[in-house]
Amino acid sequence: MTDFTDFDYLLIGHGIAGAVLARELRARGQRVLVYDEPRPDAASRVAAGLMNPVAGKRFALTWRAHETLPAAVAYYQALNEELGEEFFQATPILKVFGSAQEQAQMLARAADDPWQGFVEKIETESIARAGLLAPHGGAWLRGGGHLRVEALLAALASRGRAEGWLREETFTWQALVADGAGVAYAPGRLRAGHVVCCTGAAALASPHFSWLPLTPNQGAVLDVAVPGLSAAQVLNRGAYVVPAPAPGQFRVGATYRWPPFAEVPGDDDQRELAGRLASLTPLPFEVLGERRGVRPAVRDRRPLLGRHPALPWLSLFGGFGSKGVSLAPRLASLLADYLGGSGELWPDVTLARYYPLFSAAPG
Ligand SMILES: Cc1cc2nc3c(=O)[nH]c(=O)nc-3n(C[C@H](O)[C@H](O)[C@H](O)COP(=O)(O)OP(=O)(O)OC[C@H]3O[C@@H](n4cnc5c(N)ncnc54)[C@H](O)[C@@H]3O)c2cc1C
Repeated sequence: MTDFTDFDYLLIGHGIAGAVLARELRARGQRVLVYDEPRPDAASRVAAGLMNPVAGKRFALTWRAHETLPAAVAYYQALNEELGEEFFQATPILKVFGSAQEQAQMLARAADDPWQGFVEKIETESIARAGLLAPHGGAWLRGGGHLRVEALLAALASRGRAEGWLREETFTWQALVADGAGVAYAPGRLRAGHVVCCTGAAALASPHFSWLPLTPNQGAVLDVAVPGLSAAQVLNRGAYVVPAPAPGQFRVGATYRWPPFAEVPGDDDQRELAGRLASLTPLPFEVLGERRGVRPAVRDRRPLLGRHPALPWLSLFGGFGSKGVSLAPRLASLLADYLGGSGELWPDVTLARYYPLFSAAPG
Protein backbone atom coordinates (compact mmCIF):
# COMPACT_ATOMS: atom_id res chain seq x y z
CA MET A 1 0.00 0.00 0.00
CA THR A 2 2.97 2.28 -0.52
CA ASP A 3 1.43 4.07 -3.49
CA PHE A 4 -1.61 5.12 -1.46
CA THR A 5 -2.23 8.85 -0.85
CA ASP A 6 -3.06 9.97 2.69
CA PHE A 7 -5.92 12.31 3.56
CA ASP A 8 -7.24 13.57 6.88
CA TYR A 9 -10.85 13.41 5.71
CA LEU A 10 -12.66 11.48 3.04
CA LEU A 11 -16.11 12.94 2.33
CA ILE A 12 -18.73 11.03 0.39
CA GLY A 13 -21.22 13.35 -1.37
CA HIS A 14 -20.88 16.85 -2.77
CA GLY A 15 -24.40 18.15 -2.39
CA ILE A 16 -24.71 21.31 -0.32
CA ALA A 17 -23.78 19.39 2.86
CA GLY A 18 -20.58 17.83 1.54
CA ALA A 19 -19.57 20.98 -0.34
CA VAL A 20 -19.87 23.24 2.70
CA LEU A 21 -18.23 20.74 5.07
CA ALA A 22 -15.33 20.17 2.66
CA ARG A 23 -14.72 23.91 2.53
CA GLU A 24 -14.86 24.20 6.34
CA LEU A 25 -12.36 21.37 6.81
CA ARG A 26 -10.04 22.68 4.12
CA ALA A 27 -10.18 26.14 5.74
CA ARG A 28 -8.92 24.43 8.94
CA GLY A 29 -5.90 23.14 7.05
CA GLN A 30 -7.15 19.57 6.69
CA ARG A 31 -6.32 17.38 3.69
CA VAL A 32 -9.73 16.55 2.24
CA LEU A 33 -10.84 14.33 -0.63
CA VAL A 34 -14.47 14.26 -1.80
CA TYR A 35 -16.18 11.54 -3.83
CA ASP A 36 -19.40 12.50 -5.56
CA GLU A 37 -21.65 10.94 -8.12
CA PRO A 38 -23.09 14.20 -9.49
CA ARG A 39 -26.67 13.04 -10.02
CA PRO A 40 -28.92 15.75 -11.51
CA ASP A 41 -31.74 14.61 -9.23
CA ALA A 42 -29.73 15.07 -6.00
CA ALA A 43 -31.84 17.21 -3.67
CA SER A 44 -29.32 20.04 -3.72
CA ARG A 45 -29.36 20.32 -7.51
CA VAL A 46 -33.15 20.51 -7.58
CA ALA A 47 -33.68 22.83 -4.59
CA ALA A 48 -34.94 26.34 -5.13
CA GLY A 49 -32.38 27.43 -2.56
CA LEU A 50 -34.79 29.43 -0.44
CA MET A 51 -33.63 30.52 3.02
CA ASN A 52 -36.85 31.43 4.75
CA PRO A 53 -36.79 32.59 8.39
CA VAL A 54 -40.53 32.13 8.89
CA ALA A 55 -42.35 29.21 7.34
CA GLY A 56 -45.29 26.89 7.29
CA LYS A 57 -49.00 27.33 7.84
CA ARG A 58 -48.42 28.50 11.42
CA PHE A 59 -46.04 31.19 10.19
CA ALA A 60 -43.54 30.21 12.88
CA LEU A 61 -39.91 31.19 13.20
CA THR A 62 -37.80 28.34 11.84
CA TRP A 63 -35.72 26.21 14.21
CA ARG A 64 -32.68 28.07 15.60
CA ALA A 65 -33.15 30.81 13.00
CA HIS A 66 -30.89 33.27 14.81
CA GLU A 67 -28.02 30.79 15.06
CA THR A 68 -28.21 29.46 11.52
CA LEU A 69 -29.52 32.12 9.13
CA PRO A 70 -27.09 34.98 9.79
CA ALA A 71 -24.23 32.45 9.54
CA ALA A 72 -25.60 31.17 6.22
CA VAL A 73 -26.06 34.66 4.78
CA ALA A 74 -22.50 35.65 5.74
CA TYR A 75 -21.14 32.36 4.42
CA TYR A 76 -22.79 32.59 1.00
CA GLN A 77 -21.97 36.29 0.67
CA ALA A 78 -18.32 35.42 1.26
CA LEU A 79 -18.60 32.72 -1.44
CA ASN A 80 -20.14 35.26 -3.85
CA GLU A 81 -17.07 37.43 -3.30
CA GLU A 82 -14.61 34.58 -3.53
CA LEU A 83 -16.08 33.11 -6.72
CA GLY A 84 -16.95 36.44 -8.32
CA GLU A 85 -20.57 35.54 -9.01
CA GLU A 86 -23.85 36.30 -7.26
CA PHE A 87 -25.04 32.79 -6.33
CA PHE A 88 -26.73 34.09 -3.18
CA GLN A 89 -29.14 37.00 -3.15
CA ALA A 90 -30.59 38.51 0.02
CA THR A 91 -33.95 39.08 -1.71
CA PRO A 92 -36.88 39.98 0.58
CA ILE A 93 -39.57 37.33 0.93
CA LEU A 94 -43.21 38.38 0.73
CA LYS A 95 -45.56 36.08 2.60
CA VAL A 96 -48.86 36.85 0.89
CA PHE A 97 -51.99 36.70 3.08
CA GLY A 98 -54.61 34.41 1.62
CA SER A 99 -57.58 35.98 3.40
CA ALA A 100 -58.67 38.81 5.70
CA GLN A 101 -58.77 36.24 8.49
CA GLU A 102 -55.14 35.26 7.95
CA GLN A 103 -54.20 38.93 7.95
CA ALA A 104 -56.04 39.48 11.25
CA GLN A 105 -54.26 36.49 12.83
CA MET A 106 -50.85 37.87 11.82
CA LEU A 107 -51.66 41.31 13.19
CA ALA A 108 -52.80 39.79 16.47
CA ARG A 109 -49.55 37.86 16.80
CA ALA A 110 -47.34 40.76 15.70
CA ALA A 111 -47.64 42.58 19.02
CA ASP A 112 -45.53 39.86 20.71
CA ASP A 113 -43.01 39.81 17.82
CA PRO A 114 -42.69 36.00 17.72
CA TRP A 115 -40.49 36.49 14.61
CA GLN A 116 -37.80 38.35 16.53
CA GLY A 117 -36.94 40.90 13.91
CA PHE A 118 -37.24 38.69 10.82
CA VAL A 119 -40.58 40.31 9.87
CA GLU A 120 -39.78 43.75 8.55
CA LYS A 121 -43.26 45.03 7.86
CA ILE A 122 -46.86 43.87 7.63
CA GLU A 123 -48.99 45.38 4.88
CA THR A 124 -52.75 45.28 5.31
CA GLU A 125 -53.77 46.80 1.96
CA SER A 126 -53.54 45.24 -1.48
CA ILE A 127 -49.87 45.19 -2.53
CA ALA A 128 -49.12 46.82 -5.86
CA ARG A 129 -46.29 44.94 -7.57
CA ALA A 130 -46.16 43.99 -11.24
CA GLY A 131 -48.24 40.90 -11.86
CA LEU A 132 -48.91 40.16 -8.19
CA LEU A 133 -52.24 39.12 -6.65
CA ALA A 134 -52.16 40.16 -2.99
CA PRO A 135 -55.53 41.77 -2.15
CA HIS A 136 -55.17 41.11 1.59
CA GLY A 137 -51.59 42.35 1.87
CA GLY A 138 -48.75 40.36 3.31
CA ALA A 139 -45.69 40.24 5.55
CA TRP A 140 -42.24 41.21 4.34
CA LEU A 141 -39.48 38.98 5.69
CA ARG A 142 -35.83 39.91 5.93
CA GLY A 143 -32.70 38.03 6.94
CA GLY A 144 -33.14 35.26 4.35
CA GLY A 145 -32.80 35.07 0.58
CA HIS A 146 -32.10 32.47 -2.04
CA LEU A 147 -29.10 30.58 -3.35
CA ARG A 148 -28.60 29.14 -6.84
CA VAL A 149 -27.48 25.87 -5.36
CA GLU A 150 -26.89 23.89 -8.55
CA ALA A 151 -24.80 26.67 -10.09
CA LEU A 152 -22.78 27.12 -6.89
CA LEU A 153 -22.09 23.37 -6.64
CA ALA A 154 -20.99 23.32 -10.29
CA ALA A 155 -18.58 26.20 -9.64
CA LEU A 156 -17.16 24.52 -6.52
CA ALA A 157 -16.89 21.18 -8.33
CA SER A 158 -14.99 22.74 -11.18
CA ARG A 159 -12.55 24.14 -8.61
CA GLY A 160 -12.40 20.72 -6.92
CA ARG A 161 -11.53 18.99 -10.20
CA ALA A 162 -8.86 21.58 -10.98
CA GLU A 163 -7.33 21.41 -7.49
CA GLY A 164 -7.61 17.64 -7.27
CA TRP A 165 -9.78 17.35 -4.14
CA LEU A 166 -12.92 16.07 -5.93
CA ARG A 167 -13.43 12.76 -7.70
CA GLU A 168 -16.72 12.49 -9.58
CA GLU A 169 -17.23 8.77 -9.10
CA THR A 170 -19.57 6.52 -7.21
CA PHE A 171 -18.06 5.51 -3.89
CA THR A 172 -18.34 1.83 -2.98
CA TRP A 173 -18.79 1.55 0.78
CA GLN A 174 -18.08 -2.17 0.71
CA ALA A 175 -14.53 -1.50 -0.54
CA LEU A 176 -13.67 0.57 2.54
CA VAL A 177 -11.39 -1.28 4.96
CA ALA A 178 -10.68 -0.05 8.48
CA ASP A 179 -7.05 -0.26 9.53
CA GLY A 180 -5.44 0.84 12.78
CA ALA A 181 -5.24 4.56 12.03
CA GLY A 182 -8.34 5.06 9.91
CA VAL A 183 -9.44 3.50 6.62
CA ALA A 184 -8.04 2.38 3.30
CA TYR A 185 -9.95 2.54 0.02
CA ALA A 186 -8.14 0.44 -2.54
CA PRO A 187 -10.20 1.47 -5.64
CA GLY A 188 -9.04 5.07 -5.05
CA ARG A 189 -5.53 4.12 -3.82
CA LEU A 190 -6.04 6.20 -0.67
CA ARG A 191 -6.02 6.15 3.08
CA ALA A 192 -7.92 8.54 5.31
CA GLY A 193 -8.07 9.25 9.01
CA HIS A 194 -11.81 9.88 9.02
CA VAL A 195 -14.77 9.40 6.67
CA VAL A 196 -17.87 11.60 6.63
CA CYS A 197 -21.01 10.39 4.90
CA CYS A 198 -22.72 13.39 3.23
CA THR A 199 -24.92 11.45 0.83
CA GLY A 200 -28.31 12.95 1.70
CA ALA A 201 -31.17 10.46 1.57
CA ALA A 202 -28.75 7.86 0.13
CA ALA A 203 -27.22 7.51 3.63
CA LEU A 204 -29.90 4.86 4.15
CA ALA A 205 -28.30 2.82 1.36
CA SER A 206 -24.88 2.82 3.01
CA PRO A 207 -24.14 -0.31 5.07
CA HIS A 208 -23.48 1.83 8.16
CA PHE A 209 -26.46 4.16 8.51
CA SER A 210 -29.50 2.13 7.53
CA TRP A 211 -30.58 2.06 11.21
CA LEU A 212 -31.21 5.82 11.34
CA PRO A 213 -34.80 7.14 11.26
CA LEU A 214 -34.37 8.95 7.96
CA THR A 215 -37.77 9.38 6.32
CA PRO A 216 -36.98 10.55 2.78
CA ASN A 217 -39.68 12.37 0.88
CA GLN A 218 -39.82 13.38 -2.73
CA GLY A 219 -40.42 16.89 -3.97
CA ALA A 220 -40.87 18.62 -7.29
CA VAL A 221 -40.24 22.15 -8.49
CA LEU A 222 -41.37 23.79 -11.72
CA ASP A 223 -39.29 26.18 -13.79
CA VAL A 224 -41.69 28.69 -15.31
CA ALA A 225 -41.71 31.80 -17.47
CA VAL A 226 -44.08 34.50 -16.21
CA PRO A 227 -43.38 37.57 -18.34
CA GLY A 228 -44.31 40.72 -16.44
CA LEU A 229 -44.16 39.31 -12.89
CA SER A 230 -41.99 41.34 -10.50
CA ALA A 231 -38.71 39.60 -9.64
CA ALA A 232 -37.82 41.98 -6.81
CA GLN A 233 -39.01 39.53 -4.15
CA VAL A 234 -39.59 35.87 -3.44
CA LEU A 235 -43.32 35.18 -3.21
CA ASN A 236 -44.63 32.74 -0.64
CA ARG A 237 -48.13 31.44 -0.18
CA GLY A 238 -48.60 27.68 -0.21
CA ALA A 239 -45.81 27.64 -2.78
CA TYR A 240 -42.73 29.80 -3.12
CA VAL A 241 -41.87 31.61 -6.34
CA VAL A 242 -38.14 32.30 -6.54
CA PRO A 243 -36.70 34.60 -9.25
CA ALA A 244 -34.28 32.86 -11.65
CA PRO A 245 -31.36 34.66 -13.32
CA ALA A 246 -33.10 34.79 -16.74
CA PRO A 247 -35.55 37.71 -16.95
CA GLY A 248 -39.18 36.64 -16.49
CA GLN A 249 -38.23 33.17 -15.19
CA PHE A 250 -38.92 31.68 -11.76
CA ARG A 251 -38.66 28.39 -9.86
CA VAL A 252 -41.90 27.37 -8.15
CA GLY A 253 -41.88 24.82 -5.37
CA ALA A 254 -42.38 22.52 -3.85
CA THR A 255 -44.48 19.40 -3.42
CA TYR A 256 -44.07 16.74 -0.71
CA ARG A 257 -44.67 13.06 -1.54
CA TRP A 258 -44.09 10.06 0.66
CA PRO A 259 -42.98 6.62 -0.60
CA PRO A 260 -43.49 4.77 -2.85
CA PHE A 261 -42.05 7.43 -5.15
CA ALA A 262 -43.21 7.74 -8.76
CA GLU A 263 -40.47 6.84 -11.24
CA VAL A 264 -41.49 9.38 -13.87
CA PRO A 265 -42.89 12.90 -13.47
CA GLY A 266 -46.67 12.79 -13.22
CA ASP A 267 -49.34 15.43 -13.73
CA ASP A 268 -50.08 15.78 -10.02
CA ASP A 269 -47.02 17.82 -9.09
CA GLN A 270 -47.45 20.11 -12.08
CA ARG A 271 -51.13 20.61 -11.40
CA GLU A 272 -50.53 21.36 -7.73
CA LEU A 273 -47.71 23.84 -8.32
CA ALA A 274 -49.38 25.53 -11.29
CA GLY A 275 -52.52 25.99 -9.17
CA ARG A 276 -50.54 27.62 -6.39
CA LEU A 277 -48.75 29.90 -8.82
CA ALA A 278 -52.11 30.92 -10.31
CA SER A 279 -53.25 32.03 -6.85
CA LEU A 280 -50.32 34.47 -6.71
CA THR A 281 -50.51 35.98 -10.19
CA PRO A 282 -53.23 36.50 -12.80
CA LEU A 283 -50.56 36.53 -15.54
CA PRO A 284 -50.30 33.67 -18.04
CA PHE A 285 -47.27 31.44 -17.53
CA GLU A 286 -45.42 28.72 -19.39
CA VAL A 287 -43.96 25.65 -17.69
CA LEU A 288 -40.38 25.25 -18.91
CA GLY A 289 -39.48 22.13 -16.95
CA GLU A 290 -39.97 20.04 -13.85
CA ARG A 291 -37.27 18.76 -11.49
CA ARG A 292 -37.65 16.22 -8.73
CA GLY A 293 -35.46 15.09 -5.89
CA VAL A 294 -35.58 13.30 -2.54
CA ARG A 295 -35.25 15.25 0.70
CA PRO A 296 -33.22 13.64 3.49
CA ALA A 297 -35.86 14.21 6.17
CA VAL A 298 -35.59 12.83 9.71
CA ARG A 299 -38.32 11.59 12.03
CA ASP A 300 -37.83 14.43 14.56
CA ARG A 301 -37.21 16.97 11.78
CA ARG A 302 -33.73 17.85 12.99
CA PRO A 303 -30.42 17.31 11.17
CA LEU A 304 -28.10 14.41 11.97
CA LEU A 305 -24.46 15.13 12.82
CA GLY A 306 -21.73 13.23 14.51
CA ARG A 307 -19.88 10.00 14.98
CA HIS A 308 -21.11 6.50 14.28
CA PRO A 309 -21.74 4.71 17.59
CA ALA A 310 -19.39 1.80 16.84
CA LEU A 311 -17.00 2.92 14.09
CA PRO A 312 -14.64 5.64 15.39
CA TRP A 313 -13.43 6.50 11.88
CA LEU A 314 -16.91 7.33 10.55
CA SER A 315 -19.30 10.30 10.91
CA LEU A 316 -22.48 11.56 9.27
CA PHE A 317 -23.42 15.06 8.15
CA GLY A 318 -26.99 15.02 6.90
CA GLY A 319 -30.67 14.79 7.64
CA PHE A 320 -31.25 18.31 6.36
CA GLY A 321 -34.83 17.71 5.21
CA SER A 322 -36.13 20.80 3.44
CA LYS A 323 -33.60 23.20 4.98
CA GLY A 324 -30.13 22.19 3.81
CA VAL A 325 -29.28 25.57 2.34
CA SER A 326 -29.84 27.60 5.50
CA LEU A 327 -28.56 24.99 7.96
CA ALA A 328 -25.43 23.61 6.28
CA PRO A 329 -23.00 26.50 6.94
CA ARG A 330 -23.49 26.83 10.71
CA LEU A 331 -23.69 23.08 11.26
CA ALA A 332 -20.65 22.32 9.08
CA SER A 333 -18.63 24.67 11.26
CA LEU A 334 -20.03 22.97 14.38
CA LEU A 335 -19.11 19.50 13.08
CA ALA A 336 -15.67 20.57 11.83
CA ASP A 337 -14.86 21.98 15.29
CA TYR A 338 -16.18 18.87 17.01
CA LEU A 339 -14.21 16.48 14.79
CA GLY A 340 -11.14 18.66 15.35
CA GLY A 341 -11.50 18.17 19.09
CA SER A 342 -12.92 21.55 20.05
CA GLY A 343 -16.56 22.10 20.86
CA GLU A 344 -19.62 19.96 21.42
CA LEU A 345 -22.49 19.18 19.09
CA TRP A 346 -25.88 20.64 19.97
CA PRO A 347 -28.03 18.02 21.73
CA ASP A 348 -30.87 18.39 19.22
CA VAL A 349 -28.64 17.60 16.20
CA THR A 350 -26.22 15.00 17.50
CA LEU A 351 -26.44 11.51 16.08
CA ALA A 352 -26.09 10.31 19.68
CA ARG A 353 -29.81 10.95 20.27
CA TYR A 354 -30.45 7.90 18.09
CA TYR A 355 -27.70 5.59 19.40
CA PRO A 356 -30.32 3.43 21.18
CA LEU A 357 -31.72 2.53 17.75
CA PHE A 358 -28.29 1.23 16.72
CA SER A 359 -27.99 -1.17 19.61
CA ALA A 360 -31.52 -2.31 18.85
CA ALA A 361 -30.69 -2.87 15.17
CA PRO A 362 -30.14 -6.48 14.08
CA GLY A 363 -26.47 -7.40 13.71
C1 LIG B 1 -37.96 19.77 -4.66
C2 LIG B 1 -37.07 20.21 -3.56
C3 LIG B 1 -37.00 21.56 -3.25
C4 LIG B 1 -36.17 21.98 -2.19
N1 LIG B 1 -36.09 23.32 -1.91
C5 LIG B 1 -35.27 23.74 -0.90
C6 LIG B 1 -35.12 25.11 -0.63
O1 LIG B 1 -35.71 25.97 -1.29
N2 LIG B 1 -34.31 25.47 0.41
C7 LIG B 1 -33.61 24.53 1.14
O2 LIG B 1 -32.88 24.89 2.07
N3 LIG B 1 -33.72 23.22 0.88
C8 LIG B 1 -34.54 22.81 -0.13
N4 LIG B 1 -34.66 21.48 -0.38
C9 LIG B 1 -33.96 20.53 0.50
C10 LIG B 1 -32.49 20.48 0.15
O3 LIG B 1 -32.39 20.16 -1.19
C11 LIG B 1 -31.79 19.45 1.04
O4 LIG B 1 -31.95 19.78 2.40
C12 LIG B 1 -30.29 19.42 0.73
O5 LIG B 1 -30.06 19.56 -0.64
C13 LIG B 1 -29.64 18.15 1.22
O6 LIG B 1 -28.30 18.20 0.84
P1 LIG B 1 -27.31 16.98 1.00
O7 LIG B 1 -25.99 17.46 0.52
O8 LIG B 1 -27.43 16.45 2.38
O9 LIG B 1 -27.88 15.83 0.04
P2 LIG B 1 -27.92 15.71 -1.58
O10 LIG B 1 -28.23 17.01 -2.20
O11 LIG B 1 -28.83 14.57 -1.84
O12 LIG B 1 -26.43 15.35 -1.97
C14 LIG B 1 -25.88 14.08 -1.77
C15 LIG B 1 -24.81 13.83 -2.82
O13 LIG B 1 -24.17 12.59 -2.53
C16 LIG B 1 -24.05 11.85 -3.73
N5 LIG B 1 -23.93 10.42 -3.42
C17 LIG B 1 -24.83 9.61 -2.83
N6 LIG B 1 -24.33 8.36 -2.71
C18 LIG B 1 -23.08 8.40 -3.23
C19 LIG B 1 -22.05 7.43 -3.42
N7 LIG B 1 -22.18 6.16 -3.02
N8 LIG B 1 -20.89 7.82 -4.03
C20 LIG B 1 -20.70 9.10 -4.44
N9 LIG B 1 -21.66 10.06 -4.28
C21 LIG B 1 -22.81 9.71 -3.69
C22 LIG B 1 -25.32 12.20 -4.49
O14 LIG B 1 -25.24 11.86 -5.86
C23 LIG B 1 -25.37 13.71 -4.23
O15 LIG B 1 -24.58 14.41 -5.17
C24 LIG B 1 -35.45 21.03 -1.45
C25 LIG B 1 -35.49 19.68 -1.80
C26 LIG B 1 -36.29 19.26 -2.85
C27 LIG B 1 -36.32 17.82 -3.22
